[in-house]
Formats: sequence, structure tokens, C-alpha cells
Amino acid sequence: NQHLSERVLNMATSATLAMAAKARELRAEGKDIIGLSLGEPDFNIPDFIKDAAKEAIDQNYSSYSPVDGYGDLKEAIINKFKRDNGLEYKPTQILVSTGAKQSLANLALAMINEGDEVILPAPYWVSYSDIVKLCGGIPVEVKTSIDTDFKMTPAQLDAAITPKTKMMWFSSPCNPSGSVYSKEELEGLAEVLKKHENIFIVSDEIYEHINFTTTGHTSIASIDGMYDRTITVNGVSKAFAMTGWRIGFIGGPEAIVKACTKIQGQMTSGPNAIAQRATIAALNAPVSEIKYMIDKFHERRDLVLGLLGEIEGFNLNVPEGAFYVFPNISHFFGKELKGTKIENASDFSLYLLENANVATVTGEAFGNPDCIRISYAASEAELKEAIKRIKEALS
Ligand code: PLP
Repeated sequence: NQHLSERVLNMATSATLAMAAKARELRAEGKDIIGLSLGEPDFNIPDFIKDAAKEAIDQNYSSYSPVDGYGDLKEAIINKFKRDNGLEYKPTQILVSTGAKQSLANLALAMINEGDEVILPAPYWVSYSDIVKLCGGIPVEVKTSIDTDFKMTPAQLDAAITPKTKMMWFSSPCNPSGSVYSKEELEGLAEVLKKHENIFIVSDEIYEHINFTTTGHTSIASIDGMYDRTITVNGVSKAFAMTGWRIGFIGGPEAIVKACTKIQGQMTSGPNAIAQRATIAALNAPVSEIKYMIDKFHERRDLVLGLLGEIEGFNLNVPEGAFYVFPNISHFFGKELKGTKIENASDFSLYLLENANVATVTGEAFGNPDCIRISYAASEAELKEAIKRIKEALS
């Protein structure tokens, strides 16, 4: 370790990836593990997107693309933002990256100075705090609970702001809680932010389409006064089941996008050419093309909520989007299960792995130590079997 930078030594390993690795290890030992730890749709990529990729190979899209992405892909992104979010961007306000994860890393590198504070309503997506810390920022967690459907209130935001606050990062629909901020709730947060014009917002909307509300999705950038200080992050991993193809993008103020492009130009260059061509087909298609997947997630959510609701000690909110449930399982803390003392959510998640052969993720990784995250991006048969095993392991 003496050769390694403090930067990496201070960094946590992604808890979701660590759990997936552990599950893989146990499977290799012959154990029948059901993996509900990863945030990955279990659908195949729709054929029209695959066809676009095959065509791109045949058309020899094999050279470096522009660093910020192909011009016609940026046009497709501009149209998408207009169609789905009511947001108008120019090509200079768009950057295409290798997944939304790189979009976030670019933003942190481009905007955070040592000691800058970044407000993270907790629970938050696992990588936010480590990306912020890697760039010298200080994550300021705002704890929320099941009582507010895991959403930050305007009063909580107000109380968290200091002269050092640089940004606020959040996802809606939220990974891990599945919570969706309504337009009115975002307006409430915007009222607070209007009093502090130097604070920027990173709005991670990667689960935008996986939304079961009747009111739909609202982008905070579309709320009065927020456009000039919001960077909207999105991508194709979740809605189009394209996680491995690695395409994400941002829309935002030109100077910030330009700075992110400069960083990307030194670090990775433009994203994969074939995946960019396929993304044009994905974004240009009507959203109805992917509705079958959203409907399936909705059904599975109801299934999982119903089955988990029967287990004593699982306290659940009703997630309105994404594909996770985030039960509060603090009921089990201090108890002994089959000779194992459960002190926290990590113990509980490990207990389920070892005694139910079901992989979940501890809420600690998401800034909430009372909960675990269960992904329902799995088949109905797997979900039913997994919850049956969980129930047995806890009885
Ligand atoms: N943001 C959130 C909230 C996510 O859940 C994920 C993936 O798990 C990402 C960003 C990263 O997405 P991508 O696969 O585009 O890098």
C-alpha cells in the first residue's frame, strides 16, 4: 500500500460491485445465489437498437469520434431534452460520456475545489460521496427517512447550506429509495436555492422513464430560475437496458459543459463510437417502444412490495420509480438470528447472503444504515423464490 496514493487509499470500493463479486464467488463454490444487488435491467436490448449498432459496424464507425460526441447524437439528445423535459439546449451545452458515471466524475473534477461542500440528500446513489471526496469535496449528507418517503424537505436543505456549499446532487427517481420528487416538491427546493445563487444542482435523471406515477417526471432545470444553474445528467443504461454499452450525457450551462469536455479530452476522449450510433436510435424512438419494460418493473414492484410486506420487521415505502425497494430493517438490530448477532444493515445483508442465498446491498453504502436495498430487476420466479428464502431465514 505504501506505493498507492492517499486519494485511492481513502476511497471506498463500490458496495454494489463488491456485493456482486461476493455473490459470484459463492456461486463459483456451487451455491445457488439469487442476485438482487445490482442496478441492472434483466431485459435484452431492444432489436432496433441492436440493428443500429450492427449497421454502425458495417458502416465503419471505427475512428475516434469528436470528444463531446457525434453531432447527430447531440441533436438526438437535444430533441430528447425538448420532448421529455421541456428543456432547450444548444449543441455547445451537451456532452456525451462513457456512462452517466463519467458524466458525474467530469462534473466533480470540473467544479469542485478542495473543501467545497456538496449536499447529498441521503439515501443517495452509492458513488456520489466517493466521487465528491476524490475531487477534494466534502459530502454533506442530509438524512431523510421513510417518514418523508426518503425525500429532503426545503427546511432540511435550507439548514444544510453554508457559505462553502457549492452544489447539491440528487437523483429522481432515486436510487436506492425509488422516490420521485413531484413538481411541487422540486419547486419547494428551488425556493430555497433561489436565495443562494452560487449553488449548482446536479440532477441525475437516469431513471426518468422508470416512473410509475401518473404525474410523470419533472426536471428541476425546467423550474423557474433553475435552468442556468442545473446540470441535467441522463443516459441509456437503465431505460434501454444498455448498461454495458456505456453512454451517458449532460445538458447544462455552456462554460461547465466546456470544462467537462476539456477534462474528458485528456482522460478518455469521446465514448465508444458504435454505442453512440446505437444511442441515436434509442433516443429517437418514441418512449412507447420501451413501455413494456416499464410496465414489467411496475408489476414486479407491486409483487415485491406485497411479498415483503408479509415479513415482520420490514418497513417499506412505496417506491414510485427506478427498480429498487429500500426497506427499513432496523427491527432486527440487537437481535440474534440463528446464532448470528445483527447489529446493523451490513450484518443483516450478509446474513441474508449466507442464510438465504440472496444478495442485497447494505443501506450504509447509500448513507442510510437502517435499510437494505433490494433490486427487483430480476424475473418474477427469482423474486418469489428470493423472498420465500428471506422469509424462511428470518422465521
Ligand atoms: N446514477 C445513478 C443514480 C445510477 O443508479 C447509476 C447506475 O447504477 C448511474 C448514475 C450510472 O449510470 P451509467 O451506467 O450510465 O454510468
